[in-house]
Amino acid sequence: MKRVALLGATGSIGRQAIEIIEAHPELELCAASSGSTPLDDVDAPLKQVGGDLAELLERADPDVVLNAVVGFAGIHATLWAVENDVPLALANKESLVAGGELVGGRGRIIPVDSEHSALFQCLEGKTGIQGLVLTGSGGPFRGRTRDELASVTPEEALAHPTWRMGPKITVDSATLANKGLELIEAHFLFGLPYDSIEVVIQPTSIVHSLVRFRDGAAIAHIGYPDMRVPISYALTYPERAPTEIPGLDLTALTLQFEAPDVETFPMLELARRAGEAGGTAPCAFNAANEVAVAAFLEGRLPFLGIADVVADALDRADTAAARDLDDLLEADRRARDLAEQGLPVA
Ligand code: NAD
Ligand code: MG
Repeated sequence: MKRVALLGATGSIGRQAIEIIEAHPELELCAASSGSTPLDDVDAPLKQVGGDLAELLERADPDVVLNAVVGFAGIHATLWAVENDVPLALANKESLVAGGELVGGRGRIIPVDSEHSALFQCLEGKTGIQGLVLTGSGGPFRGRTRDELASVTPEEALAHPTWRMGPKITVDSATLANKGLELIEAHFLFGLPYDSIEVVIQPTSIVHSLVRFRDGAAIAHIGYPDMRVPISYALTYPERAPTEIPGLDLTALTLQFEAPDVETFPMLELARRAGEAGGTAPCAFNAANEVAVAAFLEGRLPFLGIADVVADALDRADTAAARDLDDLLEADRRARDLAEQGLPVA
């Protein structure tokens, strides 16, 4: 029996994780949490709405933690898992991006993000690695010009072509901030320099990512876009339990790739620059993005304003490296303040 602590149980990833756990007799939910939504329909011996996630994990004593919280709020749970060397199935990419060296390369992290799950599988046991290729769908606004994006609404941004996800990551997919966060996530998970990590658009999200090798070969991971596959992989690692998800109907597929439009979607390059700058620049990028996305969803900021707010906050942020969690919390708070100052006055 593997005992799973599921944080963010009421979200998109959380719900799909419960489905996977219920379908596998060897998985058992030992604790579940949410930020504010009731957990009445979740069957777990320990349940917590809000409150201290590290303290919940301490009491639950899980065999694996699935962190499916959205945003920097997941940092305490991520640090608890890596510090206690408890396997961490990580969907909450923001905690790894913001946590940087305090999280990456420590503990036992099994990525849940589909691209990183793909890369993890393509890299396993391999040598001669040349670089990584992260794929992305391009989001709902792929192919549009900046002029066409000036007045897009939250409803339009929330209509993702290939994935059904929570609102924050769906907006991140529309701005390409999600691919930017994933670039930094890949750097900290796999330890490769930024200039060895490419991003390419593959609109149908069938190719989940690739690894290039020094002999000219590339290994890709392909499948239908369904988060239950990487969730199941992470929770049952290294066994790879069966799922109900069908294999690909190959003769029905054509695969297309294109370069990301970095002029129209500046968040990808802003993330790359924050990653290369290091220190708490990725933390500041993430914090400013969280503030800007929340403001966009509330109708307080236009879509194109998201990148402006983040660029401005990054320019002004003190990005000295964090020695500990307190430094990180402080860097996150300062970047949030800078981003708030950059929002239009109501
Ligand atoms: P969601 O908004 O659907 O769910 C978020 C969950 O976190 C909810 O249970 C919510 O109650 C909880 N939560 C929110 N604020 C909290 C707080 N302050 N403290 C504790 N819990 C809090 O989000 P989601 O789409 O499930 O995404 C969760 C994470 O997984 C994000 O980091 C996202 O980037 C990542 N991810 C999601 C998908 C996807 O398909 N949804 C894919 C890849 C990665
Ligand atoms: Mg992803």
